[in-house]
Order: sequence, then structure tokens, then C-alpha cells
Amino acid sequence: MNKELLLENYQNTFKDTSLDKGVYAAPGRVNLIGEHTDYNDGFVMPMAIEKDIRMVIQLRNDKKVKAFSLDYDKVIEFKVDKLFYDKENIWVNYIKGIIDELQKLGNKLQGFNLLFTGNIPQGSGLSSSAALEVVTALAISDLHNINLEAVELALLAQRAENNFVNVQCGIMDQYISRLGQKDNALLIDCRTNQYQLVPFANENYQIVICNSKVERGLVDSEYNKRRKECNQAVEFFKQKIDENITALRDLDLESLEKYKAELKKNVYKRAHHVISENQRVLDAKKALEKNDMKEFGKLLYESHQSLSADYEVSSKELDLLVELASREKGVKGARMTGAGFGGCTVNLVKKEFVNDFAENIKKAYYQSSGIKADIYITDPAPGARKL
Ligand code: ADP
Ligand code: MG
Repeated sequence: MNKELLLENYQNTFKDTSLDKGVYAAPGRVNLIGEHTDYNDGFVMPMAIEKDIRMVIQLRNDKKVKAFSLDYDKVIEFKVDKLFYDKENIWVNYIKGIIDELQKLGNKLQGFNLLFTGNIPQGSGLSSSAALEVVTALAISDLHNINLEAVELALLAQRAENNFVNVQCGIMDQYISRLGQKDNALLIDCRTNQYQLVPFANENYQIVICNSKVERGLVDSEYNKRRKECNQAVEFFKQKIDENITALRDLDLESLEKYKAELKKNVYKRAHHVISENQRVLDAKKALEKNDMKEFGKLLYESHQSLSADYEVSSKELDLLVELASREKGVKGARMTGAGFGGCTVNLVKKEFVNDFAENIKKAYYQSSGIKADIYITDPAPGARKL
């Protein structure tokens, strides 16, 4: 929704004609490569997408907050000094979480009205939640003249999700939503929280995201199993090789192969994915820096293969989407993205074939699965900003 329409909606909802309002946006993201590496102290490389959450905000003279989500068609009222978890309106907890974290830092907040809407599909692995946190944090802090550096803001948004919403996410989503830049992906080291922009500005290629429209059902239980298996590998190597090993990040494939026979099959496979995936992220960065899209695409395919066969977090729909993509003209790479068991695939497609690709994939996916996929075409977008 453009700024004018958003302001018009605000006017109609809050009947306020004064002009001193702020309008802000924060994007969703797609993880290009580096899956299930974050909790193993490894590397990830997301980019911000051309889908976002946009928010109008205006200060009030009291302590009240009136928050209106256009997408849920509901105004929720509460006070900044009385924050309780809302079991019915989950979305408002992301906003309350931000307020809570800002106040924990000693900031005195006034009340405000806010209205927002987004076009990031919710719960599909494109991180609508981080976009909501980041846009809220930017809007509130800017309005109160609270000076939060980009990284500080991203970390605060992560704490809001961890502490108030009670979801134990890593730093990737908030980092990219805040720090993303046009024509760049972002390499993040999940051990040190350090990051680096990676140029991704090849005029001949675009990123196409295919939403399988399958809910990520098994994620929680399987996620816990994978984490346990990764920890088992770490414990094993700690005893065998070096007690300073604290994460799969510290291992290489050579050591893994050496002890293959002593490891449980699944533990070996999980470790093999994580170790090789970390290397692929670093290789992908180099490929992008050299503008080598063929190599970058190859790494995407390899990542999918590894996630499907070794980490076993793909699904028949995600495998199908990647398989169908690989048969299309102009496609250099494809893989599942996000935690798995549903959600989206990310595809590297030559620009001239993008529209055909979208049409053909939709048709073929529907024929094989009976599901209508959604397709989003995007270049790397800028991070959160004032509009
Ligand atoms: P993801 O981050 O992968 O999209 P999550 O389950 O982490 O999925 O976050 C989705 C939640 O974020 C939604 O259930 C909702 O509470 C909130 N949210 C996201 N977008 C919006 C929106 N446009 N309006 C209101 N709430 C939203
Ligand atoms: Mg989320």
C-alpha cells in the first residue's frame, strides 16, 4: 500500500487531521543460502525482499496506545505502562514486545496511535514477524527521538520476539530487515553477530520465490531433534579432537569423514549438512563478489540436495518445486529456504525468462500437487526506513 493510501486509512481510523505523522517500512527477507547453520554458530546469507510492513504512527498526549492492523481489521488499546501478553490477538504482542524492550533500556514512552499493513505472507518463512518488530521499533524510537544504532535496533527487535512473543529466533531476520540494502545480500556470522554486505546487482538475474503454500507443520518437533543431533556431534568431537570445539562451526569435512564409522548415521548426516553448508555460504559470497551467477546457482542446488538428503527437512512439495525449476529455461539454481517442511523455495532466474518461469512453475506444480503456488519476483531491497 502506498504512503498516501496508508495516511488516508489512518485519517479515517483515527479522525486526525494534523500532519506530523511518521510513515515507516521494514521488509521481509529470503535466506539465499545458509540453512540450519545459525544455531550451529555458522553463516547465513539473506537478502531483503520487495515486500514489507508499513506503519503510520503519531504521538498522543497520554499513555494510551491504539494499534490498528489493517490486515486483521482491529484496533487494540492498551497502555505503555501496562503490558500483558494478548492470547487472542497475537500480532499485538510483537508491538508490545518492542515497547517493553525500549522501556527496559530506560526510555520514557508516551502513548501513540499506529496503523499498519503488510504484504509479506505470514508464516511462510519470509519473516513477516521480524518486519513487524523492526518497523515498530524504528517508528517508536524515531518518534521519541531515541537514537538506536541499526544493530542495536535489530538486537532489540530480536529480544522482543524472544522475551515477549516467546519465540526463540536467532538474529538473521531482524538483522536483514534493518540492515539490508538495495542490490546487496547480507552475510552474517551467527557466532560473532558480525555482518558484511555482499553485492548482488546483476541486471540479468532476479530472485523468484515460490510459496509451496504448505504449512510448516513438523517444524517444532523435528527442529528440536536436529538440534540434539548437532549437539551429539559436537560432544563427540569435543572428546575426540579438541575440548575447545563448541559448535559444528569448528569442524571441517575432513575430520568428519575420519570418524564417520564411529558416528550414528543420522548424526553424521546432520553434521555433514551443517559443515558443508557453512562452506557453501562462504563460497556463495565469493561467487557473488565475482558476479559468477552460474557458480552461485550451483551452490543453491547443492544446498537443497544437502537439506533434503542429509538434513531431511525438505518435503515432497519443496523437492517438487526445485525439480520443476531445474527443468525451466534460464534457471541457474533453486533450493528450499527457511526451516523446511513447507514454506518457500528460492530460485535464481535469468530476467528474460522470469515471467515464463513463474507461469510454467505454477501450472506444473498445480498439475502434480493440486496446490496453487504463489510466486514473488524480487531484487534485493533496502532495509527498514522512513518513507
Ligand atoms: P513468519 O515470520 O515466517 O512470517 P511468524 O509466525 O514468525 O511467521 O510470524 C507471523 C506473525 O506475525 C503473524 O501470525 C502475525 O501475528 C504477525 N504479523 C505478520 N504480518 C502481519 C501483518 N501484516 N499484520 C498483523 N500481524 C502480522
Ligand atoms: Mg517469524
